[in-house]
Amino acid sequence: MASCKFCLTGTSETWFGSWCKDCHKLQRIIALFGVDKVMSIVETVLIVDEESQDDKIKQELKTELSQREYKLRERKQKKQKALESIPE
Ligand SMILES: [Zn+2]
Repeated sequence: MASCKFCLTGTSETWFGSWCKDCHKLQRIIALFGVDKVMSIVETVLIVDEESQDDKIKQELKTELSQREYKLRERKQKKQKALESIPE
C-alpha cells in the first residue's frame, strides 16, 4: 500500500485510501472538536516558543531548589531537636 498523503510516514489504511489509520483518527477528532480547538491545543502544547520553555525551566529549577532547601532545613531542625533531647 502507498504511504499516507497527510503525515507521509504511515501506510494508507486501504488500497484506495490516501491516509493512514492515525491520520483518519486525527480527521475524526478535528471533525468532532473543530479545527480551531485542535490547532490551538497543538500550538500551545507542542509548539512552545523558546522564551516560554526558558521560563518553564527556571520555574522548575526554582521549585526543585526550594524543596531541597526545605528538606535540608527540616533535617537540621530534627538534628537540633535530637541534640536538645540528650540529657546533660
Ligand atoms: Zn498519516
